[in-house]
Amino acid sequence: MDELKRTDPEIYQLIKDEERYEIDSVRLIPSENYVSKAVLEATGSILTNKYSEGYPGRRYYEGQRYVDQIEMIAIDRARALFKVDHANVQPYSGSPANLAVYFALLKPGDTIMGLSLPHGGHLTHGWQASITGTFWRSAQYVVDRESHVVDFDKIREMARAERPKIIVTGGTAYPRLWDFKSFSEVAKEVGAILLADISHIAGLIVGGVHPDPVPYADVIMTTTHKTLRGPRGAMIMCRNEYAEAIDKAVFPGLQGGPHNHTTAAIAVALKEASTPEFKAYAKKMVSNAKTLADELLARGFSLVSGGTDNHLILVDLTNKKVIGTKGAKALDAAGIVCNKNTVPYDPRKPFSPSGLRFGTPAVTSRGMGDAEMRQIGKWIDEAIAHANDEAALKRIAAEVTEMCRRFPAPGITLN
Ligand SMILES: *Cc1c(COP(=O)(O)O)cnc(C)c1O
Repeated sequence: MDELKRTDPEIYQLIKDEERYEIDSVRLIPSENYVSKAVLEATGSILTNKYSEGYPGRRYYEGQRYVDQIEMIAIDRARALFKVDHANVQPYSGSPANLAVYFALLKPGDTIMGLSLPHGGHLTHGWQASITGTFWRSAQYVVDRESHVVDFDKIREMARAERPKIIVTGGTAYPRLWDFKSFSEVAKEVGAILLADISHIAGLIVGGVHPDPVPYADVIMTTTHKTLRGPRGAMIMCRNEYAEAIDKAVFPGLQGGPHNHTTAAIAVALKEASTPEFKAYAKKMVSNAKTLADELLARGFSLVSGGTDNHLILVDLTNKKVIGTKGAKALDAAGIVCNKNTVPYDPRKPFSPSGLRFGTPAVTSRGMGDAEMRQIGKWIDEAIAHANDEAALKRIAAEVTEMCRRFPAPGITLN
């Protein structure tokens, strides 16, 4: 980055600082990862110079001889990897992609039924603060108070009463498997479209460690930057019958020119995700999450739903007498980066919730395994127990950094 250093030393230095931070800390935010150097190179390429409104072979701009090929490769790889009829790789990110799905398939005032945000759902599944909860009617299902898993009797009852036009599965803080078959039965019964938002679990699905929504969902949306380990972006996949509506909703319905540098990097990530190494990675993300969950349980932490089936863990800190905000800040001071999170039926407010959310995509990309997960669990325990003790947190941070330096971070080489 010599040129950046000359042109804008201030931004250059901040990127270098972030790079160092990403190497020296244990990154447990479940929606984050480390992309490969190849993905970074495609993202940073001259494709950012291009405009190409439209779709391959049907553009509103000339000069698409290479861009068309790149987008076709990304589409073909997505179709092959997920085994779907159709893929649109242009959405700028997950939130606009969900908006495009609703814009394609719903009329204003139709009902979206999704998992409630404080129960692990996403804003764009009809939460009031999101356009998806104001422009459309919304019905929000919740998890069971005891088991913390979704209860199909309640979901069926809600669907019958609310008559949603679309039912959304998926979430950002749901540590268990999604039963797409049961959701599709409910959707069929009430005549609703089933959208599987697999943003968090796409990498697990292509890696074969989470059930596949393809036989059951009408439309599948995923971000590309979480467990799939690609650039920031999203894809909408669907059966042929919805393809035209989805494409029209993305462009010209919602977006202008696609981000071609991102499209190229998505193609690269999809190639990487179709390798045996990626399958092993997906498996390891889940086994690492289970090991970390076991270590936390052994240390008296209370886990939402009692554990995990996927790459993420939701901790209720109430019994530790520390609130989520405090816990997350103490951990960051100790070199462990996570986020505060609401837990189901949280008596506290979303900006100051009772829980913490941990995930293993990034640490697994660095090659960390069981021994490191147990060590991380021990550090989490110590940091929460000494949340007010700056010296203790500093000592943990030094140990964290020492361990992190033994595990190279993909995409980052220090000079
Ligand atoms: C991350 C996420 C999104 C939104 O993605 P952005 O790229 O942050 O807009 C949507 N749905 C789910 C389930 C997610 O986890």
